[in-house]
Amino acid sequence: MTDFRCGSVALVGKPNVGKSTLLNAFLGEKVAIVSPKPQTTRGNLAGIHQDAEAQIVFYDTPGFHDPKNPLARFMLSQVQEALDGCDLALFLVDAADSVGEDEELAAGWLRKSKKPVLFVINKTDLVEYPRLLDLERKGKVLGPWPQFRVAAKTGAGVKELLAEVKGRLPEGPPLFPEDQLTDKNLRELVAELVREQCFLQLTREIPYGVAVVIEEFKENPEPDPVVVTATLYVEKESHKGIVIGAGGRQLKSLGSAAREGIEALLGRKVFLQLWVKTLKNWRKDEDKLMRLGYGLT
Ligand code: GDP
Ligand code: MG
Repeated sequence: MTDFRCGSVALVGKPNVGKSTLLNAFLGEKVAIVSPKPQTTRGNLAGIHQDAEAQIVFYDTPGFHDPKNPLARFMLSQVQEALDGCDLALFLVDAADSVGEDEELAAGWLRKSKKPVLFVINKTDLVEYPRLLDLERKGKVLGPWPQFRVAAKTGAGVKELLAEVKGRLPEGPPLFPEDQLTDKNLRELVAELVREQCFLQLTREIPYGVAVVIEEFKENPEPDPVVVTATLYVEKESHKGIVIGAGGRQLKSLGSAAREGIEALLGRKVFLQLWVKTLKNWRKDEDKLMRLGYGLT
């Protein structure tokens, strides 16, 4: 097994370009959360691809933004952390969206990092050929990187890209045991499943202001269910009523959908209890962010 390869790969790109979808396509399992609304990934979530030839540890970085507020700054620090530690970066752009200032900003970091980069045009299923050629020209201006066309959602080009990624990783033994799917602990995955439902079920800006904290995670011996208690922190008193809903219906609906996801993840019955509390303007307050686990480095 001398030519086994192992390395880490950062997925870099604007919110909504399809980083989580590509990660899931690589892994063939649902690990990172996917939602139709942007910016749902707030931390580094590593998924591990393992086959007979290679082990690849993927970092799905949150979207990049100019660091105006503490949460944006935290997200930028996560992107840079993922870049520092990686052997290769995949720089994703959305074929159906504009490629402009945000990409120039990210391209600057990538060039400065001196890491090998593959420029990946995703969502090719949504555009015509001339548009792809145009994007490829723009990509060459951003950096001297090899280019790939994929549609993460349909799987087109994903196998070829994966083969290319493998070929660029250093030779070495696996870092993680084969049966380890993600390096995030279960509590965090459970919190993300609850947050995913907030993005799917709540409208407008409300889900962006929800932080989920797991208060209790008790793995009782079977046949008793796993007991999970979580608090949803909202930014404004008025959001609390919306999250709970008339007669508690909204919260109930969030809870039962999240519970199904958690049961699928754990393969066990789950009893999920959700609480809602207001923590005024937590997104703008560094002390409150720290308390919620968004530590700034
Ligand atoms: P992220 O914010 O970069 O992680 O983006 P997501 O993976 O959450 O994807 C954002 C949205 O784009 C979701 O609704 C995906 O289903 C959709 N999407 C991702 N890849 C593709 C693709 O190749 N084709 C199409 N049509 N949609 C895609
Ligand atoms: Mg994502």
